[in-house]
Amino acid sequence: MKIGVLGSGQLGQMMCLEAVPLGYSFYCLSPDANSPSEKVGAKATVSSYDSQSELENFLNQIDVLSFEFENIPKPTLDFLKNQKSVTVFPPPQALIIAQDRFLEKTHFRKLGFRTAEFFHLTMDTSKLDISIEFPWIIKTLRFGYDGKGQVKVKNKLEYEYFLTSGFQNEHSEYLIEEVIPFQKEISIILTRFQNGDIVCYGAVENEHKNHILDLSIFPARIPVGLNLEAIEMASKLAESFQYVGTLGVEFFIKDNQLYLNEFAPRPHNTGHFTQDCQSFSQFYLHVQAITGNTPPTDVRPKPTLMKNILGNSYTESLKLANELLKDDRYRLHLYAKEVAKPGRKMGHMNFKGTLEEVNPLFHEL
Ligand code: ATP
Ligand code: MG
Repeated sequence: MKIGVLGSGQLGQMMCLEAVPLGYSFYCLSPDANSPSEKVGAKATVSSYDSQSELENFLNQIDVLSFEFENIPKPTLDFLKNQKSVTVFPPPQALIIAQDRFLEKTHFRKLGFRTAEFFHLTMDTSKLDISIEFPWIIKTLRFGYDGKGQVKVKNKLEYEYFLTSGFQNEHSEYLIEEVIPFQKEISIILTRFQNGDIVCYGAVENEHKNHILDLSIFPARIPVGLNLEAIEMASKLAESFQYVGTLGVEFFIKDNQLYLNEFAPRPHNTGHFTQDCQSFSQFYLHVQAITGNTPPTDVRPKPTLMKNILGNSYTESLKLANELLKDDRYRLHLYAKEVAKPGRKMGHMNFKGTLEEVNPLFHEL
């Protein structure tokens, strides 16, 4: 069977590394040459996501299409919804909802989930009164990642200042959100199979630095009841799309209550611990789900930590990582990106153990 993926970054790379040993051929399409996915053997088509002819050629080469990047242009997703030549997992509708923060939070509310209060801000709606209490976070409606395109607005004056510049650039739509003073951030990584079965290891706890994921701690140190509730919400979300594959769902915890923040219709950075949790990785499960296999039965993940390695002080981080590798509880996953830049995710390191057991140097990676 031939798997094709739109996008060619590290998520595609790690899917490819699971797919090939299972006997699948792996293809990727993206505008980038020498991509992380291509470097581990994915057969690459370099093309924009909206070239109809390149897309049709790509579909002719594969049996099943998936995604490792969620910001695929909507016309391409509409085309994929309507074509019959290739099965597409997850359903393009999940990406259409995930890439628009207003549609996404509206969908969450329809399912009965708690979210931050929100308001769809456009040139027109900016004339209306907004009943959300300050402080706010204003996020670009689309294309945000790692906290990019977000500003904190503390009062009316700052909001008025924001309005003077907010509609001059290409981002003419925003989502205003109430700031949730959360105690913890967690996520659920879940894989739904074609027969409707779900595999989920339970919540992972996440810490961000400068709005970028820094550390994930599995299992999350939260009450059992909250963990079960988060799994139930993520399952309900997956079912609402008839989702097939792996997805990541992000939550805030405030006063023992879950607030749904956002979801990613693909394997997720906070799920990288699964590669070394001594059970099945999120990428393996994704590949097995989209190719029509049934879930594994013996799923027993062990405590694991994941630390992101950014491009900021990459050489020093690599030195440290190599030191840590002398202990076989550490595993290094580098993405083979061409250039290291500040804030760019270059790789991650997993530790098979707990925060109490980890070498303090791990936190300096
Ligand atoms: P990523 O792609 O890294 O998940 P993103 O750019 O899509 O990020 P969010 O996940 O919505 O955006 O926000 C990034 C981080 O900013 C969150 O993990 C959280 O720490 C903080 N944040 C976002 N929204 C809120 C909110 N309403 N209240 C408090 N903190 C928030
Ligand atoms: Mg997020």
